[in-house]
Amino acid sequence: MKKRILTGDRPTGPLHLGHYVGSLQNRVRLQDEYDTYILIADIQALTDNFEHPETLAANVFEVTLDYLAVGLDPEKANFVVQSRVPELCELTIYFMNLVTVATLERNPTVKEEIKQRNFVRGVPVGFWSYPISQAADITIFKADLVPVGEDQLPMIEQAREIVRRFNRLYDKVLIEPRAMLGSVPRLPGTDGGAKMSKSLGNCIYLGDPPDAVRKRVMSMFTDPTRIHPTDPGHVEGNPVFTYHDVFNANKQEVEELKDRYRKGTVGDVEVKQRLYDALDGFLAPIRERRDHYRHNPQQVYEIIREGTAKGRAVAQATMEEVREAMKIAYRFD
Ligand code: ATP
Ligand code: MG
Repeated sequence: MKKRILTGDRPTGPLHLGHYVGSLQNRVRLQDEYDTYILIADIQALTDNFEHPETLAANVFEVTLDYLAVGLDPEKANFVVQSRVPELCELTIYFMNLVTVATLERNPTVKEEIKQRNFVRGVPVGFWSYPISQAADITIFKADLVPVGEDQLPMIEQAREIVRRFNRLYDKVLIEPRAMLGSVPRLPGTDGGAKMSKSLGNCIYLGDPPDAVRKRVMSMFTDPTRIHPTDPGHVEGNPVFTYHDVFNANKQEVEELKDRYRKGTVGDVEVKQRLYDALDGFLAPIRERRDHYRHNPQQVYEIIREGTAKGRAVAQATMEEVREAMKIAYRFD
């Protein structure tokens, strides 16, 4: 039997370059080798968007377009809508008994996200405990491998702890998953912030039209210590060069630009223009495939329905084993 991959995204907006280098790239690369399930995590998206649930429907569609656009093949990868797999909620509730409040409170990613979100009425229990529901997502699919960005490492660790606890207490039915980091574990935002993130508005989206990409690139943060194009500049930690390193296939051009930047013989505008060209070369074929599917919504819906049905069947089978292991598979006949 093939090993499984489970990973996913919150349908809080279309996907961006950070998703690509953090996770999508690995999913595409491994989809032949692994039985792949990709969760469109709408329940998790609600944890900080519960006041605007109406935004989810369109974003489930957008995220699926992005999957298809980057080359995930629905014959190999199943796209599963989380809320259509109620077994996930059941497993989440069982897992809640295996995690302490203190452990949840120590999760560094959740801590950071709570700070950013500035919940005015206090932190919702749903948001604070989402690592538990994410552990259910991963383990119900018996995933061996989880391709994710660096921010997700504490979540995988939490899932592993839960699996060890469950298997020791009840029976060995769950698999301890491994994280797989992308080629860039954490892509910075266009604002120079530590992480490109939908919630921070510092993104270049995979489906952005050329003029939007150009605008984002031209207004990117560079070296704050450099005032004139003739000042020697810093390449390290400069997001424009980070993006060049990742997305510009012409390595010689990148080295030349770095060299000139350090000497103060090239301006930010030229460096950015070259970056725009490189990004456009990368994004154009993605944009084209995305447009194709966008104009064929029925085909996309069919792909979602099929993927979700397959995913649900796997989840149901695991839950039979889970209830059996927990000695709660009561039969009343
Ligand atoms: P949100 O702000 O809604 O949480 P997000 O941009 O963080 O959006 P998620 O749906 O939470 O996106 O993340 C999906 C996957 O993409 C995760 O594996 C995450 O680690 C990865 N990812 C997201 N942003 C980046 C980034 N800037 N660099 C690398 N990986 C990323
Ligand atoms: Mg996130």
